[in-house]
Amino acid sequence: MSVRRPLIAGNWKMHVVGDEADAYCAELLRLLDADGVPAAELALFPPFTALERVSGALAGSDVWVGGQNVHEAESGAHTGDISVAMLAGAGCGGALVGHSERRALGETGPALAARVRAALDGGLRAMLACGESLEQREAGETEDWVTGQVREGLAEIRPDDVERFSIAYEPIWAIGTGVVATPEQAQDACALVRRVAGEFLDRDQIRVLYGGSVKPENAAELLGQPDIDGALVGGASLKPADLLAIARAA
Ligand code: PEP
Repeated sequence: MSVRRPLIAGNWKMHVVGDEADAYCAELLRLLDADGVPAAELALFPPFTALERVSGALAGSDVWVGGQNVHEAESGAHTGDISVAMLAGAGCGGALVGHSERRALGETGPALAARVRAALDGGLRAMLACGESLEQREAGETEDWVTGQVREGLAEIRPDDVERFSIAYEPIWAIGTGVVATPEQAQDACALVRRVAGEFLDRDQIRVLYGGSVKPENAAELLGQPDIDGALVGGASLKPADLLAIARAA
């Protein structure tokens, strides 16, 4: 069984404007220098407008930068979208696909598998997000829903993609709410994600992350679960010290 290196990724969402990105990167680099590089791999998903300056500031560090979304088409009439080549040109090494905040806007279905494929074909890493709503959990539909999302999102994946691919299980009811899944809930769902992803990829190699109100205070318990290989972090990633504290708990 291979050892899966933990991956801690910060999703800035629609936060961090202009010079704030430079200040963030300077502080992150200062802390990495002062306290050492954590064993976990680090990634950041800044807004599109900050990608170039963040990837430039962090060039030469171990931190990779990704887009919060990516379109499956190479180019064309897709107002407001961003292509793989645009992300790569801005210094990105990856892309997030299917975050629940994008799914809520109608970005669902087979296009997500095509986005994963496009990112990987373009040399980027791809992180697919999935997760159920509170209503679905309360109705006992979590397993069917998440299974469907994983199968749909991995429809175009190939076994040799596994090193550049990860899945973030993020229950919608835990995102930005301060309500974190219990370690048991998170473990059960991540084990399910691994089992289903194992239909497509080597289940021992695939990295499955948990996301939803992860903070330095709850990270160690979540990241200590056997099927949780890292975290996708929203709010707490806006402070470099908190992101690193989470990474050091992994
Ligand atoms: C997210 O944005 O994917 C997320 C998990 O946010 P938060 O950590 O703020 O819940």
